[in-house]
Amino acid sequence: MRMIREETADGAAFMRLALRLARRAATRGEVPVGAVVVRDGAVVGRGSNRRERANDPTGHAEILALRQAARAIGDWRLAGTTLYVTLEPCVMCAGAIVNARVPRVVYGCRDPKGGAVDSLYDIMRDRRLNHRVDVENGILERECSIMLREFFQRLRIKGEMTERPKDFRGKARQPVAGAPAKMGERRFTEREPPHHRPRVASTRVESATDLVL
Ligand SMILES: [Zn+2]
Repeated sequence: MRMIREETADGAAFMRLALRLARRAATRGEVPVGAVVVRDGAVVGRGSNRRERANDPTGHAEILALRQAARAIGDWRLAGTTLYVTLEPCVMCAGAIVNARVPRVVYGCRDPKGGAVDSLYDIMRDRRLNHRVDVENGILERECSIMLREFFQRLRIKGEMTERPKDFRGKARQPVAGAPAKMGERRFTEREPPHHRPRVASTRVESATDLVL
């Protein structure tokens, strides 16, 4: 019993670290998801969602934490590790976790529309694959889901405040198809109508929104 309690206490501490990384993502305008990889009680990889900043569809917290851990260990097989992540991993991350042979994953809250561990798929425990992962969830679940809910609430409020009059849409400059943006110039600016701006929302955003509403 003592060992289990100690492990749970450590788990909460690592999840708290993942939450701090998620908070850091939020300050950059990214969906707040954070992850850490732990081996022998030490953090060997950290990641916070950088998809928007890096324009990287693979820039999820888990992927970044796995890469850092593999560099630190000097092996793509992450034997003896536990990955802590604030949100249930998606299909891509669950696949990467299986490929990295991570033996154990602990996640905070579920993602009913994008989760590939319990919600939509069960990739990590699929017996047809050559590696299976022990999964635990619900550690600091409330904190993890509150962080996402607050992020999307702020995003909605911001969206309402910056909404422009309807006649603005007609006058807006249309971007020229295929024309490259000049160096240092953003192709789409705040002055252009919302449907021409890069999307902030995504499947992950929507699913996470649904998760917390
Ligand atoms: Zn992911």
